[in-house]
Amino acid sequence: MTRLAIGGLVHETVSFLPEETTLADFERRAVRSDGIAPAFAGSNTVFGGFLKVCEDNGVAVEGLLCAECAPSGPVSREAFKALTDELVSRATLWRDETDGLLLHLHGAMVSRGELDPEHALLARLRKALGDDYPIAVAMDLHGNVGAEKAALADILCGFRHSPHTDMAETGERTAKLLLGRLAGNIKPVHALARPGLVLPSIFTATAVSPLKEIMDDVRAAADQPGILDVTLFTGFAYADVPEIGATVVAIADGDEALAIRTAERLSSRLVEAREELYQAAPLYEPYAALDKAAELLTDGCRPVVLLEHADRGNDSTHLLEAMLARDVGRVAIPYLHDPIAAKAADSAGLGAQLMTTLGGKSSEMAGPPLLFSGFVKFTGPLRYRITGPYRTGEEVDLGLSAVIDNGRIAVIVTTHSVSAVDTDPFTQCGLDIEEFDIIALRSKTHFRAAYEPIAGAILIVETPDWGPADLIGLPYRNVPPGVYPITMYDGGDDGEEDGGNDSGGDGTENGV
Ligand SMILES: [Zn+2]
Repeated sequence: MTRLAIGGLVHETVSFLPEETTLADFERRAVRSDGIAPAFAGSNTVFGGFLKVCEDNGVAVEGLLCAECAPSGPVSREAFKALTDELVSRATLWRDETDGLLLHLHGAMVSRGELDPEHALLARLRKALGDDYPIAVAMDLHGNVGAEKAALADILCGFRHSPHTDMAETGERTAKLLLGRLAGNIKPVHALARPGLVLPSIFTATAVSPLKEIMDDVRAAADQPGILDVTLFTGFAYADVPEIGATVVAIADGDEALAIRTAERLSSRLVEAREELYQAAPLYEPYAALDKAAELLTDGCRPVVLLEHADRGNDSTHLLEAMLARDVGRVAIPYLHDPIAAKAADSAGLGAQLMTTLGGKSSEMAGPPLLFSGFVKFTGPLRYRITGPYRTGEEVDLGLSAVIDNGRIAVIVTTHSVSAVDTDPFTQCGLDIEEFDIIALRSKTHFRAAYEPIAGAILIVETPDWGPADLIGLPYRNVPPGVYPITMYDGGDDGEEDGGNDSGGDGTENGV
């Protein structure tokens, strides 16, 4: 009987956030060995997809360690060491009892002292497990996937949708390829091409042109004869690393030249579209967004979703400050990360009037903590299984949370940092979503799955936080030459780097 090991270490790291992500942050959601199946079976997650394929094919599963944490600052040395030590030792322990490893990584993790910790983890796994032990990796569409990291995986697949509604599907694609290889039915070989650009997350919505047409082409390319899988990784713009940027990975069945041609062709499409990719939607300053929202509401367009997308700590106050100063209707702010305000509201008790400061604690860029006075409408721990289309079925834990409502603005403050992307916050806290004219979110693309069908309009608000659409002002230190727009913001007029597929002189790399 075939037996596969399943594990993962998943984090999207914002290099610029001052606060480290600790072992405790990962441990809150970490599951091990026999705990993995009950935590993820049936959920729209990568692990859920791995488990489904194993179950459908009568494959036994050996759970190692699945540790995941919401996007935040650099992973501490202690956390990275402890989690990789454990993952590698569990994989080594089960090496001879298993036929291969299904691994989930994000692709954009950074730790203190390691600019590419996922490469370090894969190198350790490869050394411990041997070159002939198959490792299949599923990554996030926002991964920064360099050639060295990719070469350590036998199979490498990524999400093709943002919002990532295809997480389970990606786990399934990865697991099916591994089983096909183990059965000797296919001989996956992958090639990688890098177009020399990175997209801000706000412009990675895959149903918005021109990325939509390119992604349609990616999926069509995956169906062509001889090709087993294709992924376009958009890269993650807020991880300051040498491997930053988009990557196309094509997997062919034994035909390396076909994999190279496919990856290079799709990479060229990104290069050709790069100016348009950065103009996918208009951006509004906070007050301009409120003016526009007022106009839309007058026209009966309701609710208006305002997206404070540059917020990477779930506690920006730039938009809240503007909304406190200007009344444009009834406002909901689901999930503002503020453990102190949550505790204060809980201590005050349900129905009590409370004056507290809100937000602005993750960094100076998040804006100042703002004084807010309101009534406590809900208080208690929030822990539930997601019903929205993104990560459906997965359990989320926000810790002690509260609704503080001043009659015009209702804010849901939480102990743990989570970005609200669906309507669960309303149902969980007993709020009627119909009551609100404006819903202020901090999501980048994931909210679209739940909100596009119900929003009257979506306005993208640009604020001076650590995740802006305009990357030029960010204090990058590790980005090599040739990554548009960070190190090529003149439009690539210097000829040598313009129009090519080549990032850093080695654009196409062949994997195993
Ligand atoms: Zn992502």
